[in-house]
Amino acid sequence: MVLDDLGSSLRGTLDKLRGKSRISEEDVEEVVKEIQRSLLSADVDVSLVMELSDNIKTRSLEEEPPAGTPARDFILHIVYEELVDLIGESTELPLEEQTILLAGLQGSGKTTTSAKMAWWFSTKGLRPAVIQTDTFRPGAYDQAKEMCRRAEVDFYGDPDGDDPVQIARDGLEATIDADVHIVDTAGRHALEDDLIEEIEDIESVVDPDVGLLVLDAAIGQGAKEQAQQFDESVGIDGVAITKLDGTAKGGGALTAVDQTDSSIAFLGTGEEVQDIERFEPNGFISRLLG
Ligand code: GDP
Repeated sequence: MVLDDLGSSLRGTLDKLRGKSRISEEDVEEVVKEIQRSLLSADVDVSLVMELSDNIKTRSLEEEPPAGTPARDFILHIVYEELVDLIGESTELPLEEQTILLAGLQGSGKTTTSAKMAWWFSTKGLRPAVIQTDTFRPGAYDQAKEMCRRAEVDFYGDPDGDDPVQIARDGLEATIDADVHIVDTAGRHALEDDLIEEIEDIESVVDPDVGLLVLDAAIGQGAKEQAQQFDESVGIDGVAITKLDGTAKGGGALTAVDQTDSSIAFLGTGEEVQDIERFEPNGFISRLLG
């Protein structure tokens, strides 16, 4: 990580360590306080921030910096390692036949993400299909169909259907020639019982290889409950964070990843089908600390 990527106040604090080869407890306290401030304003869960802070403090004071390593590089390295340890590498998505189930609340960006992911898989030479089972949100069918048209990928939905499980079943059959099946599901404004029942029923029909939780970057402290609930219901293997083109930093994803023992798969960076990136820890960590 380069210092230029960091927020100015954290960079300023680290710069005060310039020329020092040993770090005092006071120095560590000051740096950790800045890091806490950045992470909390990026919506990282409070208890996670505390856990990270403790690890950073202990390691900075107990570990010997390698000879010739300036104090600020040493502490920055520890901060980075601790965050990477928590966030991990991108969710593994082998480029082969698979079925992916998307879960998340209404408005999180599931429908958009399903078409974006399909586009992404198509750029890797696979034949993806999106199956739209959201019969709850008016407009979901048209939106998914239009985005899939723009992404030039197969699409299945039933504008007159009212049984998401039947649509999922029919959709898998209708798109049998596709390699990657991406099943979009309905959300609700909150974690309601009927949402959970519905997605559990879809999951049992679809039998996904991968369960992805779609989270709005602005989710904040609500991420924990959602991650826990969807993990219990359908199993969460990865997280897609949307709307990272806005000001929110997506710290809720850390909570979700920690809660589900999973990792981040994709980042959504706009409303178009091409606005998707595979997760990469360096850029994301710089953003969190920025
Ligand atoms: P769903 O209810 O979970 O299916 O959510 P949608 O896919 O309909 O997304 C909700 C809104 O967020 C729509 O207006 C999308 O265009 C928008 N959206 C989704 N992903 C992104 C993103 O990465 N960036 C931006 N700026 N908007 C997004």
